[in-house]
Amino acid sequence: MLRLAIQKSGRLSEDSLKLIRECGISFITSSLKLKTESTNFPLEILYLRDDDIPGYVADGVADIGIVGENVLVEEGYQALAVEKLGFSKCRLSLAVPKADDYESVQDLNGKNIATSYPNLLQAFLSERGVQVNIHTISGSVEIAPSIGLADAICDIVSSGSTLISNGLREVERVFNSQAVLIANDGLTAEKRELLDKLLFRIHAVQRASR
Ligand code: ATP
Ligand code: ZN
Repeated sequence: MLRLAIQKSGRLSEDSLKLIRECGISFITSSLKLKTESTNFPLEILYLRDDDIPGYVADGVADIGIVGENVLVEEGYQALAVEKLGFSKCRLSLAVPKADDYESVQDLNGKNIATSYPNLLQAFLSERGVQVNIHTISGSVEIAPSIGLADAICDIVSSGSTLISNGLREVERVFNSQAVLIANDGLTAEKRELLDKLLFRIHAVQRASR
């Protein structure tokens, strides 16, 4: 039996379940349950916080998982990536108060920047020779400038409307993300075979939706 970890409730959940169903894998979900077994494929689904998924797959608690590339790379587990899945597309961007002068990333030198993605942000700024003070916070990043906690933010953006409603302007794209399938690197031959079967079906679903 292959164990798949997906996000319990959030922006990855619905499309992750939809993909598995489109692969012809049936299961019954309940918002109360932490795991379910498929009725027609040797697959068990674990419902977890998205941030915990890479670590659980790396440790082998789950064999495979679906997570955003932003979380995967932030946590340093990019080596587990097997396949980009094409949904939950978003970007990690830097934004400044809309009235601020901003010409280039160099303008951020010495500033305080709030983010939930310190590693991705640090890598982006280091490549460009910019030094800032990063304040790592786990949520409500977009209000940090208006409460005086930071001069700028680095946060997930999809449409940009949250930035606008907080008086912010997107100035740099730091990282492009989408959902990705990940796998433990020490799967048994049996599990590897199940993963290959699943991948075969995922490719068929992807071809059909193109
Ligand atoms: P959890 O409770 O599981 O920790 P969370 O609040 O950290 O959830 P979500 O907001 O549900 O996470 O986002 C999960 C992932 O979905 C993000 O890491 C990102 O890859 C993607 N994502 C985030 N925001 C958007 C968006 N606006 N549009 C599309 N995808 C997004
Ligand atoms: Zn999370």
